[in-house]
Amino acid sequence: MARPRTTLTVQRTEWLTPHLIRVHLGGPGFATFRPSEFTDSYVKFIFPRDGSEVVRTYTVRSVDQTAGEIAADFVFHGAEGIAGPWAASVQPGETIDLYGPGGAYTPRSDADWHLLAGDEAALPAIATALEAMDTDATGLAFVEVAGPDDELPLKKPDGVELTWLHRGVRPPGELLAQTVRQAPWAPGQVQVFIHGEAQTVMHELRRYVRRERGVPAEWAASISGYWRLGRTEEGFRQWKAELDTTEAAVAASANS
Ligand SMILES: Cc1cc2nc3c(=O)[nH]c(=O)nc-3n(C[C@H](O)[C@H](O)[C@H](O)COP(=O)(O)OP(=O)(O)OC[C@H]3O[C@@H](n4cnc5c(N)ncnc54)[C@H](O)[C@@H]3O)c2cc1C
Repeated sequence: MARPRTTLTVQRTEWLTPHLIRVHLGGPGFATFRPSEFTDSYVKFIFPRDGSEVVRTYTVRSVDQTAGEIAADFVFHGAEGIAGPWAASVQPGETIDLYGPGGAYTPRSDADWHLLAGDEAALPAIATALEAMDTDATGLAFVEVAGPDDELPLKKPDGVELTWLHRGVRPPGELLAQTVRQAPWAPGQVQVFIHGEAQTVMHELRRYVRRERGVPAEWAASISGYWRLGRTEEGFRQWKAELDTTEAAVAASANS
């Protein structure tokens, strides 16, 4: 990802649901922020920690050129972590640095249908994608959240059926993986966007879409974990690197 560094000022925060906080960021630094053309546009917020810096990755939910602001929606997943607790306590006037934006996915008009799935962390990117779709787009969207209070009104094409899944006490991603696997599979070319808890996405749904349904990489490039249960973002990056190494070794032995 490009690494321009921008300093933005918190304008205000709002709780969208019991587990999702929207942070509006603007100020003088907005003049140097270059929006991405992708609907999964993301930035890396930079937090000073122990004399060093750690980064946390968040989707740019919206860019308001008139107000000179961007918005990002942070999952509040408890007292643990850096970014979630920051969003819950930050005050207007405070500043934060970020890298980016990067991005890779935009809903294609030439897809016959769309499959989108994710949890609260992917909800901002799914919401942005649904808003950007052609009005005659069709497909299925599944969002797993903790419970009914975590649902949000989303703007979407009539032809995209949106299903909210309430995980309750189940582990994150279990219900999502099960539901996507059981969902009807329409004929024609599907474009896929699936993100969320990494084990679910990488081990269950990526395999399902790519291998069992045979969706080519070009149409299913956006399937990856956004976070990993029990790991900080640094630990998750290490997990991904290990997974890549394992998969490369499996592919090499299959080809030899
Ligand atoms: C491209 C991309 C876009 C993303 N967009 C968003 C976004 O718009 N909004 C968003 O909230 N997240 C988003 N994420 C996920 C976010 O980067 C991670 O959830 C990140 O780990 C949160 O940092 P933290 O400091 O709060 O927790 P960390 O310090 O990283 O982790 C602390 C603990 O919290 C747990 N944890 C982390 N995230 C979650 C979660 N979502 N639910 C439950 N437990 C969790 C970890 O497993 C760990 O045990 C995105 C990730 C990527 C790669």
